[in-house]
Amino acid sequence: MRRIVVVEDDDAIGAMLTRSLQSHGYVVAWCTTGAEAAAAIAEAPPDLVLLDVGLPDVDGLNLCRRLRTENRDLPIVVVTARDAEIDVVVGLDAGANDYITKPFSMTILLARIRAQLRGVEPADPDSAIEIGRMRVDPAGWTVSVDGQPIELRPREFQLLLALCREAGRVITRERLLADVWDLHWDSSTKTLDMHVMALRRKFDDAIEIATIRGVGYRLVVP
Ligand code: CA
Repeated sequence: MRRIVVVEDDDAIGAMLTRSLQSHGYVVAWCTTGAEAAAAIAEAPPDLVLLDVGLPDVDGLNLCRRLRTENRDLPIVVVTARDAEIDVVVGLDAGANDYITKPFSMTILLARIRAQLRGVEPADPDSAIEIGRMRVDPAGWTVSVDGQPIELRPREFQLLLALCREAGRVITRERLLADVWDLHWDSSTKTLDMHVMALRRKFDDAIEIATIRGVGYRLVVP
């Protein structure tokens, strides 16, 4: 049974979410404040957090950042009434895995939740990843396009792998730098850009790495 912590101060929405998620087989802990949610998550880490950003006691995005710092692998889906693009970007920057804007359809929300939970199922880290014409083999440290090998330097390979593992999602510069270089991000942000440029050059049009200005990069899934 998958456990979901729902953080929502609106009684009607919280009750609807709880009922609906329970009827789909999830175990739900409904919290109405940020403090209550932080305590519940610290006590028993759930499989996913559904987080309303408009909370009475704390800024939901700050809470999101904090949860992300404390638990890197916890899927967080942000629910927001503010659909301005800046909020979306801030939401991703805050470490959310996905977001949905109010009013939302329960069908779409359930699909998003399923997608996140699939993502955390222990996948074999060595299994090959195929995206478009490219095939990456993490075990053999090889990558090819249309069967033709592409020569990559070790950091380029690690960066590509990081982008592939979360293909379609924005990965922040901070996370890429931490995952690939183990350095504090502001010390080598140019290094990251240069490696992305190298990947774009080596793969030509076989892959597309989108720049999300001021946030990070996303490997586009064709
Ligand atoms: Ca709210």
